[in-house]
Amino acid sequence: MIMMLGFDSHCHLHFHHFDDDLDTVVEDSGKAGISHILIPSIDVETAEKSADIAEQYGIYSAAAFHPEHLPEDSTGEEEWLSIKRVLLRPNTVAVGETGLDYHHGTFEPEKQIRWFKRHIELAESIGYPLIVHSRGAESEVLKYLPSSLSVPVILHCWGGDELLTDMALARDFYIGVNGPLTYKKNSRLRGLISRIPRDRLLTETDSPFLPPEPFRGRRNEPAFTRFITMKIRELWGGDASIENTSYILWENAMRAYRLHPENRRADIVYQYRDSLYVNLTSRCQNDCNFCIRRAEDGLNGYCLRHREDPSESLVLSTVEAFPIEDFSEIVFCGFGEPTLRSDLLMKSAGAAGARGVKTRLNTNGLCTSFLSNHQVVKLLHCFDSVSISLNASGAGEYNRICPSTVEDPWEHLMKFIKLVKTTGIRARVSVVKSSGVDIHRAAALAERLQMPLRIR
Ligand code: SF4
Repeated sequence: MIMMLGFDSHCHLHFHHFDDDLDTVVEDSGKAGISHILIPSIDVETAEKSADIAEQYGIYSAAAFHPEHLPEDSTGEEEWLSIKRVLLRPNTVAVGETGLDYHHGTFEPEKQIRWFKRHIELAESIGYPLIVHSRGAESEVLKYLPSSLSVPVILHCWGGDELLTDMALARDFYIGVNGPLTYKKNSRLRGLISRIPRDRLLTETDSPFLPPEPFRGRRNEPAFTRFITMKIRELWGGDASIENTSYILWENAMRAYRLHPENRRADIVYQYRDSLYVNLTSRCQNDCNFCIRRAEDGLNGYCLRHREDPSESLVLSTVEAFPIEDFSEIVFCGFGEPTLRSDLLMKSAGAAGARGVKTRLNTNGLCTSFLSNHQVVKLLHCFDSVSISLNASGAGEYNRICPSTVEDPWEHLMKFIKLVKTTGIRARVSVVKSSGVDIHRAAALAERLQMPLRIR
């Protein structure tokens, strides 16, 4: 087996061509050194299938309408909501492929442009990378991509000339190349490679289409990425080994899709059962002995550890963009303590509440250490219910289970619970069995506090 890192950044494993031997195709790609694969989609059906495959094989997918597969009805509102639902799934990490196709021209340019703009706006509002298809429309896609975008843009199967390539690179876009790079007649594409900085180039197969030499005429598959990598290595002058070349290209794709530790995107929203969770921060005053953050960066396939707090505008636009009405409840509980961002917490809970969705706050109850009683009550009134981590049966046990940077955390917790009771908001307290808490004493305390107890 070849042990190396490689990325097929664009591979349509959702097509029927792979229905009979998908296990083998994915296994063969690993044997050929392709450790990562991203499956773009073209419509709702393929987006759902791509997400299923991505979750099954631990790879990645994207969701969008391809410009040749736009919704037929005038607004496409229902199908657009379905695309957004897929974008909430854990391994679906990009919006794509969208763009413009004037070569096939299945839909008139106005309709294509309208949908392209819609995808660009969505990618920006949720912070997902954008995969762009362009055929016979390379200058047009550059025209409609805003000059400053906050998300990476991947120009897949790029067919632009030198001038357009330079324009794309000046805007820091990533450029994906595939099988045609190896075709004898395609000296034009090979000529572009020297213009593209090594940290902007991506390998892709676009499987099952465009197989590289020597596989022309056959079904393409991610294992063949190696032949594109070999051609790039040759065009780079052969100074790097094939493993190093593959590693450089892998790192590029990891950055392009915001999977690289340097720019990893953490999920602001994630779904669990029939609730949607909002993850505002990875900061917390405590270091509880049972906290998942001690061992993991996420949960159920979602990456939840923010490298830094997401901006207020990104959180609000994310909550705004997704169909939160689908869920029985929106829970503000992430990989840290949400009340540390109390202003944003109130704004985002208020926005969810205004859409008629039930809201719940999960908190460690220590916010009285930095908010006045009045501020705490105001915050609580943004929620339909609150779940408070009691975690212990007394101060000594709390300090042992939940080492905290807050002075006298137990006193603050008790003060918070009293304030909650003054609001009449539905509330409960919880303890975690595996923490070593004295369950009987905690249950007796909860009874005295007149709070339902949840043992997790
Ligand atoms: S309060 Fe919650 S987020 Fe903070 S350390 Fe404890 S379990 Fe983790």
